[in-house]
Amino acid sequence: MSYDPNNIFAKILRGEMPCVKVYEDEHCLSFMDIMPQAEGHTLVLPKEPAETLLDLSDAAAAETIKVVKKMAKAVKQATGAAGVTIVQFNGAEAGQTVPHLHFHIIPGSFAKAKVHAKEMVDPASLQELADKIAAAVE
Ligand code: AMP
Repeated sequence: MSYDPNNIFAKILRGEMPCVKVYEDEHCLSFMDIMPQAEGHTLVLPKEPAETLLDLSDAAAAETIKVVKKMAKAVKQATGAAGVTIVQFNGAEAGQTVPHLHFHIIPGSFAKAKVHAKEMVDPASLQELADKIAAAVE
C-alpha cells in the first residue's frame, strides 16, 4: 500500500501537529505515546516515510534500531523499570493503528500494561517524565 502523507505521525514529523518530544536526530523522532500503556511509554519513528518495517530502507532501519536501543536505555533508566518491552506492528491486521512505522518502548511488566491505544491522557501530564527520559539519553 502507498504511504499516506496525511497520517498523524507524518503531520507530527512535519511540525503540523504537536507532540511531547523526547529526542530527535537527523534520522528519527521520539515522543511520548498519548495513550500510554505504562508510565514512560515512548515511541520512536524513522523520518523516512515508511508505513511498516517491511517498507523501510535498510539504511534507515540500521539508524532506527540504534535510536530504539538508545531510547530503551533512557526509558529504563528514567522510570527505574527492571525491563522494557519493544513492540512494533506491521499493518492494520497486525494491530497497527497509525500508518507510519514506529517502535513502542513500554517499561515495566508487559503483562500488567494497559490496553493498546485506548485511554488518552493530558499531554501536559507526560512532560515531566519526558524531560526525565530526555535527560537520561546518552
Ligand atoms: P500502533 O497501533 O502501533 O500504530 O500505535 C499507534 C500509537 O500511537 C498508539 O499507542 C497511540 O496511543 C499513539 N498515538 C496516536 N496518536 C498520537 C499522538 N498524536 N501523539 C502521541 N501518540 C499517539
